[in-house]
Amino acid sequence: MKLKRKKPKIKQVMSTCSWCGLKIRNEGPIYALGCKKRPEVDISKYESKAMPIKISTIDKTIWCIVPPADSDARKEGNDFMFTLCSEECGNQLKETLDTEKELGELILSAKHIC
Ligand SMILES: [Zn+2]
Repeated sequence: MKLKRKKPKIKQVMSTCSWCGLKIRNEGPIYALGCKKRPEVDISKYESKAMPIKISTIDKTIWCIVPPADSDARKEGNDFMFTLCSEECGNQLKETLDTEKELGELILSAKHIC
């Protein structure tokens, strides 16, 4: 899969599977993987925007969404989240996140939120 160089808009990220790039249809179920960032990491500049995350083990940049600081998602401990087309993509992404060492500096934990 080829990724566009251009920075995607949050709407695009929300309607595209973070893992396989499939377009998520509105009527279908949307799975999401919520991540808790490490407290020392500042992601405020990405609030209400898309944030790129480089996965060096598979040489791929995937995009996630950073909800506003006062949103329910953030209050529930989801500092950023990935939208996914299926549970399978969520499992593969989670597995990759768990094994990606560099991401350990950013992510404290990752869990399925829907
Ligand atoms: Zn997918």
